[in-house]
Amino acid sequence: MKKNIELYLVLFSCFAIIASFYLLLQENLTSQQERVIFFDVGQGDAQLLQSGRVLILQDAGPNNKTADSLAKVLRGPVRELAVVLVTHPEADHIGGLPQVLRTFSVRAILIPKEFMHSTSAAWQESLGLASERNIPVVGVVRGSEVRAPGLQLQVLWPIAGCVAQNPTNECALVTKVRLGGVDYLFTGDIGIRAERMLLAISPSSQLSAQILKIPHHGSKNSILPQFFRVISPVLSVVQAGANNSYGHADPQILERLGAYTKYLWSTAQKGGVEVSALNGGKQLKIISWE
Ligand SMILES: [Zn+2]
Repeated sequence: MKKNIELYLVLFSCFAIIASFYLLLQENLTSQQERVIFFDVGQGDAQLLQSGRVLILQDAGPNNKTADSLAKVLRGPVRELAVVLVTHPEADHIGGLPQVLRTFSVRAILIPKEFMHSTSAAWQESLGLASERNIPVVGVVRGSEVRAPGLQLQVLWPIAGCVAQNPTNECALVTKVRLGGVDYLFTGDIGIRAERMLLAISPSSQLSAQILKIPHHGSKNSILPQFFRVISPVLSVVQAGANNSYGHADPQILERLGAYTKYLWSTAQKGGVEVSALNGGKQLKIISWE
């Protein structure tokens, strides 16, 4: 049965309306699946958020592995991503973005506003491809939102002016997502400094989540105990490459994390993972995803 799906992407900041989109998708509604897949892309980040036919990619990993993984999900005639979110323009997060843009149709690219003019090679190549394909590139800050049927994504970080006062990693995008009755917190590569500021400006309910993407691949400089206590996740996922040269994830950090999270999944050890909800979010389904 053909049915119209209305997808609203409403992006607004505390201070001013940055942009707003209204996209109408004409699709065959066969999938009602709501899930998040944390891809195994080696040393880097890439997560796919799915609410029915609406697909949102957060980060694109270091290389073409992300496009290869996406191809397994986007089979058949639908090869479209509603939004690609870029947490920050570093190679382990956007090295694979040009290949994603070459392979799939993308409705919009979102990135923290202060990173829009980054000179990083992969970002410049991505901007060129976005321009060729008429893909809007939109800057976001704390307060921006993306809404689609069954999905609400809030940008919690960075605040305006972050980049001028902090290292790049500390200004990476942090998003809180409600999908399929489950709360997720995605933390890019932020460190203790950003975690402290987030704690200071956010009510606990805004940070708490059942599923946490561990910041900065489990770096020892990214684990502030108070931050994890407030989030209080059931499952924490650390995305890192096996035997990477950075020593991520830090073994002592992983051990300490056991005090704050019930389950811990490392893509370096177990590969990708798919998370979805059962019984309206009362139970979680956690399965490995190749
Ligand atoms: Zn990274």
